[in-house]
Amino acid sequence: MSKLTEIFGINVFGDEAMAKRLPADVYKSLKDAISDGKAIDRHIADTVAEAMKEWAIEHGATHFTHWFQPMTGITAEKHDSFIEPDGNGNIILEFSGKNLIKGEPDASSFPSGGLRATFEARGYTAWDPSSYAFIKDKTLCIPTAFCSYNGEALDKKTPLLRSMEAINREALRIAKMLCEEDVSKINVSVGSEQEYFLVDKSVASSRADIVFCGRTLMGAKPPKGQEMNDHYFGVIKPRVAAFMTELDDELWKLGVYAKTEHNEVAPAQHELAPIFTTANIATDHNQLTMELMKKVADKHGLICLLHEKPFAGVNGSGKHNNWSISTNTGINFFKPGKNPEENKLFLLSTAAFIKAIDEHQDLIRYSTASAGNDHRLGGHEAPPAIISIYLGGALTSIFEDIENGEHHSFGGKVKMSVGTEVIPYIKKDTSDRNRTSPIAFTGNKFEFRMPGSSDSIAGINTVINTIMADVFREFADRLEKAEDKDKEIIAIIKETMKAHKRILFNGDGYSEEWKEEAAKRGLLNISSTPEAIPYFADEKNIALFERHGVLNRNEIVSRRDIAYEVYCKTIHIEALTLIEMLKRDVMPAISKYEGKLYKTISYKADNSSKKFETKTAATLADYNDRIFDLCDKLEEAVDKTGKINSLEKMAKAYHDDVLALMNEIRELCDKSQEITKREYWPYPAYGDMLFHV
Ligand code: ADP
Ligand code: MG
Repeated sequence: MSKLTEIFGINVFGDEAMAKRLPADVYKSLKDAISDGKAIDRHIADTVAEAMKEWAIEHGATHFTHWFQPMTGITAEKHDSFIEPDGNGNIILEFSGKNLIKGEPDASSFPSGGLRATFEARGYTAWDPSSYAFIKDKTLCIPTAFCSYNGEALDKKTPLLRSMEAINREALRIAKMLCEEDVSKINVSVGSEQEYFLVDKSVASSRADIVFCGRTLMGAKPPKGQEMNDHYFGVIKPRVAAFMTELDDELWKLGVYAKTEHNEVAPAQHELAPIFTTANIATDHNQLTMELMKKVADKHGLICLLHEKPFAGVNGSGKHNNWSISTNTGINFFKPGKNPEENKLFLLSTAAFIKAIDEHQDLIRYSTASAGNDHRLGGHEAPPAIISIYLGGALTSIFEDIENGEHHSFGGKVKMSVGTEVIPYIKKDTSDRNRTSPIAFTGNKFEFRMPGSSDSIAGINTVINTIMADVFREFADRLEKAEDKDKEIIAIIKETMKAHKRILFNGDGYSEEWKEEAAKRGLLNISSTPEAIPYFADEKNIALFERHGVLNRNEIVSRRDIAYEVYCKTIHIEALTLIEMLKRDVMPAISKYEGKLYKTISYKADNSSKKFETKTAATLADYNDRIFDLCDKLEEAVDKTGKINSLEKMAKAYHDDVLALMNEIRELCDKSQEITKREYWPYPAYGDMLFHV
């Protein structure tokens, strides 16, 4: 492994580079600023900038950029070179503290949902010193937050950082009461497993749907899909292995802890899991991972599809967001330890989690909603759209015992314990865990399986941090006042179980019975993005985010509108792509094959059978007529929908009218493909794409 240790983080201005290149006092102030989230003064910024520049130039960089995550969901950068004229016709290489701290990209074309009036098109980027700068494509990238002139967040990172502050504030109160060590900071840890598909570029790039939408809008099922489960953890093919090796190398150079790569359930589907790290760094790293997956795939003649459902009928792709919090002294709030029933920090935190998720099912659902993920959530082999928590039998019964008054005491304060194993029956539960649950306890963390593969994980983590901060705050208020804290904890857990145990479900989340049961329990079942979006701006949620300083009313309303816009645009582009495919490729192809069949019929002797030709031609003619009519209808629907002047109604119409028509058309196309001679069909088939890498 010497190679790994040699290359790991070589393109990152990380702790080692800083320690080596910064004067001791500057290094210390920077580290303090990072750990306490304090502002950095100008003198320090100038010194850091100088050291960063030297380091970057030595590593081949010529440009710098403020790297940020606007609401488009992908990262943005505007490159400036280090070159400045020296006034004598020569150049010097310049990079000041000012350049480091603040940037002013021409931001008028990033979505702002009305937050940035057009006369004030500027947005500002501000250095996030807690995420290390790195070099990519000869450019020094400085992770930044992006906000408006008034300081309102225009990006995904700012609210995430604010939510980390909120949970730090509230969880710290709990830790101070329940932990033995002197705790001064709470860390949010996130590990996000990334699923993706790889297809051959020379095969797939002839499909407009793959190129423009990242998913197939039609395609008959191949005779073999994923039913044999032979791809899952199967042998990795050489071409994919070469891709994975290079991807790992590139990620390691950027300090991303890529750890395991394996095949997933669907053919051509794979997964990359990193080692968990601080939430905002994990978010930055996940963005980089997605970007590099696409780039490296391209170099290998492959296309990396990050869409949630590139192919109908086989599994979609998600991003498993593993989440936990721990103290700066190393105590994980969600580590059950040897005796979970004695571990009050664990029990109280898990109760907080149960309450937070049950009270805010809408926000969890909203933060994972997208046009792409709609094809996945509630579909087969994907987590259901209904939110529930899998705790496992052993832990559930501990909570039930407390609820039923069969449990009255705890051990002392929680200490950091090195290498304490969980009790065997919990281990069994967690390793043998339920894959059908949208949120599962997995040993010392909660795994959220709903996020879509193409989504930024900033949104879901902002929500988890905020709702947990809210419940911790309520619990801390009670505990700080309580005379007998142990008694109060029991009371809190009892109340929580009574009010919120409906969110616990250890059974099969894909079953029909669960849908009925969940409805009886009064759990939300939100099936589409347009249905999920309005919940975000509920008064309850505005109050929640404002209470913790994570998002204000304006920011929420603008984000809601951006969510509507993104949804509408996505379906709009898909519809236009489908129309083009139908008119220019599909209908002419069917017609051509029909013509061929008629020609054969006319050649054939009068008394020979023409059953195959006549029946097939007639069926195809019928399908093509129907496709033609539906294509017209689709065009009308797109036209009409685009003119609706309420975003909410427009999104609903894109879903109810446009998408519904697209599905109808798809079915006819797939049926036509099944009876059209292979060489006449204008696109590579599913089988060609899924099994030919
Ligand atoms: P599994 O293979 O059972 O899904 P792993 O232990 O491999 O579980 O972890 C999956 C992901 O969860 C990895 O990205 C890992 O780094 C992350 N993870 C592990 N422990 C934690 C934790 N305490 N907090 C957040 N993420 C974690
Ligand atoms: Mg997992």
